[in-house]
Amino acid sequence: MLEIRNVTRRFGKTTAVNGVALEIPQGQMVGIIGRSGAGKSTLLRMINRLIDPSHGSIFFAGTEVSGLHGSTLRRWQRDCAMIFQQFNLVPRLDVLTNVLLGRLNHRSTALNLLNIFSREERAMAISALERLDIAQTALQRAGTLSGGQQQRVAIARALMQQPKMILADEPIASLDPLNAKVVMDALRDINLREGITVITNLHTLDTARNYCERIIGMAGGKVVFDGAPEELTREA
Ligand code: ADP
Ligand code: ADP
Repeated sequence: MLEIRNVTRRFGKTTAVNGVALEIPQGQMVGIIGRSGAGKSTLLRMINRLIDPSHGSIFFAGTEVSGLHGSTLRRWQRDCAMIFQQFNLVPRLDVLTNVLLGRLNHRSTALNLLNIFSREERAMAISALERLDIAQTALQRAGTLSGGQQQRVAIARALMQQPKMILADEPIASLDPLNAKVVMDALRDINLREGITVITNLHTLDTARNYCERIIGMAGGKVVFDGAPEELTREA
């Protein structure tokens, strides 16, 4: 269970997130919708500690996330894998290496500098790519792939972290409808088969309706809707 307790985040005079309280049970598939500027990214970034709340706190399985530091913080950031709109791959490196980069949080800094991956890790990376149906691209430079393929590489990289949660910030906003479907299908499949919580910011309500069991609507930094897609249909 992820608990967001009365969390506020300010940037100067802007209140990006304003008194948000949410409980998200393990294994839920959650879509956060709202206009640009509603506070969706800020909320996701606070969950994995890219930024900290100005007020309030976030708990996971009873542990306060803002109290983590050093190796426990690294472990938390491995537990919640991020997916971004612009994929955030290293374009000049091959796909397999990009996927292996998902293992870096598992290691000490010294080992990272050596930049050596074990046979087991390579096998794991290949099977993650197979799972996303893009193993044939393993040796290509990531930057040469289509957007839909790149996002699948990013999901494979996330799986290498063996996360409890995937936090996806507008994962399909840069994709055409066909690739958007492939990526959302992949996220749902991972959620259903592995019980990984998926929390995804989306800008289209239809996508949230089709894929998410719970929809959280945000406006002006606040939660203005929280319920099942069916409830939203009735109100609309
Ligand atoms: P959304 O993801 O819903 O588009 P954001 O969380 O990105 O919303 O932004 C919420 C508000 O906070 C916006 O007004 C945005 O300009 C502001 N904001 C977000 N990040 C920063 C930042 N690093 N510095 C200043 N303002 C920010
Ligand atoms: P998103 O597309 O996820 O809403 P944005 O394009 O709003 O993200 O923000 C991209 C980056 O710029 C983020 O790191 C965010 O924190 C930062 N940012 C957003 N709004 C502002 C702002 N008003 N001032 C400074 N930084 C901002």
